Amino acid sequence: MSEAQQPESPSGPVLSGAQPGAIAFLGLGHMGGPMAVNLVKAGYPVTGFDLMPAALEAARAHGIATADTAAGAVAGAAVVLTMLPSGRHLLDAYRGTAGQPGLLATAAPDTLFLDCSTINVDEAREAAGLAVAAGHRAVDAPVSGGVVGAEAGTLTFMVGARPEDFESVTPMLEVMGKRVVHCGEHGAGQAAKICNNMILGVSMIAVSEAFVLGEKLGLTHQALFDVASAASGQCWALTTNCPVPGPVPASPANRDYQPGFAGALMAKDLKLALNALESTGVAARLGPLAAEIYDTFAAEGGAGRDFSGIITDIRDKSAH
Ligand code: NAD
Repeated sequence: MSEAQQPESPSGPVLSGAQPGAIAFLGLGHMGGPMAVNLVKAGYPVTGFDLMPAALEAARAHGIATADTAAGAVAGAAVVLTMLPSGRHLLDAYRGTAGQPGLLATAAPDTLFLDCSTINVDEAREAAGLAVAAGHRAVDAPVSGGVVGAEAGTLTFMVGARPEDFESVTPMLEVMGKRVVHCGEHGAGQAAKICNNMILGVSMIAVSEAFVLGEKLGLTHQALFDVASAASGQCWALTTNCPVPGPVPASPANRDYQPGFAGALMAKDLKLALNALESTGVAARLGPLAAEIYDTFAAEGGAGRDFSGIITDIRDKSAH
């Protein structure tokens, strides 16, 4: 966002005991750091906190004010935005752990708790329930778009919230993203994210198996791409993130599978999908299989590679 586009005084929830629009931003890692920078650039008063001193230092170098404790960041905030590794981290932060006061007890009444982490649907609903029971409001808004999208402010937010809370958070989400979708009530944002990523994980495996089969059958990559990309095999895994070099010059396959979307994150998201499949009793077969395949891929060296690198596993394990 250019200076000219920046609102002079961003409107956000205005709450008693809290500075209008003030945001406590907890979790200043690969995603949270640049997201917080975009909020600051747009004029939001942000106070950041992270458990890692290096993340705090990097945030300060990018102009983000920081606090020494989570409670210090939350004091006076109208919004508590979290971007944490897992649901366990979130629930511990909300409830507090031995010697650490919980954020829900620390925050001013009616604070808006906005969680952008990717976590289990059940955990998102539990976190929202705890926040509401403590007299606050809750929104789950996981993202897609990766670190590049976080830096560019082009993330997609999938939002689970009551309609009035969705309206409150939309202006600040639009600062960090280019697409904001209201998916339903608490937990619906996480549900949409894992359903989408389950499609993606399964379809990338299918596309990769098809390319390796094509190789065995003497098809060139380009020939298979030219047919499938304009036929019923068409999908994002093929036409944008094509797992072989050549047909889509910008895909990670052309740069030795540098991510992109790392195998570790696909393995994580498929595990969340697997948990949801189990808790809902869906008779799914490909989702669990994809979770197992990406778990192995991540454990065997693919964690830091783009998830389309799964094709090299399939090729290596195929009979020659
Ligand atoms: P990260 O590990 O780089 O950052 C997480 C940060 O949270 C760390 O700096 C950690 O120290 C901090 N943290 C943990 N507990 C804390 C607490 N109680 N208080 C304050 N800080 C705390 O992870 P990331 O890549 O930024 O991902 C964050 C979330 O976004 C994850 O849920 C991930 O699945 C999701 N996500 C990541 C990507 C990606 O491309 N990296 C894409 C989409 C979604």
